[in-house]
Amino acid sequence: MCLFCKIVSRQIPSDIVLETDDVLAFKDVKPMAPVHVLVIPKRHLGSLHDSVPGDAALLGHMLIAAREVADKLGLGASGYRVVFNIGQDAGQSVLHLHLHVLGGRAMAWPPG
Ligand code: 5GP
Ligand code: ZN
Repeated sequence: MCLFCKIVSRQIPSDIVLETDDVLAFKDVKPMAPVHVLVIPKRHLGSLHDSVPGDAALLGHMLIAAREVADKLGLGASGYRVVFNIGQDAGQSVLHLHLHVLGGRAMAWPPG
């Protein structure tokens, strides 16, 4: 069982911000911004690159959850960034699909 699957099953504790039938959102243990939340599907998927057309609804749920997290944590007016890191060159370190929700400060572009 992977690290994030253990967070889903509560074998590893996390600071949960939002939970639905399909997704879990929790604070990143090493925040890169004042708000840094990870939105993950409860069902294991390695990365966006492992997704198939049948995962479209699940991916949509993740994006709606990201929006709800941003609202809940007061980012609606100031803005925020959502990021998928996919594979080695993007620096993906946990091989369970996750969406970063980052906010609370101005973001640089392009990302490093
Ligand atoms: P990636 O680099 O794969 O895109 O992002 C993985 C993220 O998971 C990192 O930002 C890292 O800080 C976070 N992370 C790694 N292990 C844990 C953990 O045990 N708990 C929480 N809440 N976040 C974690
Ligand atoms: Zn997993």
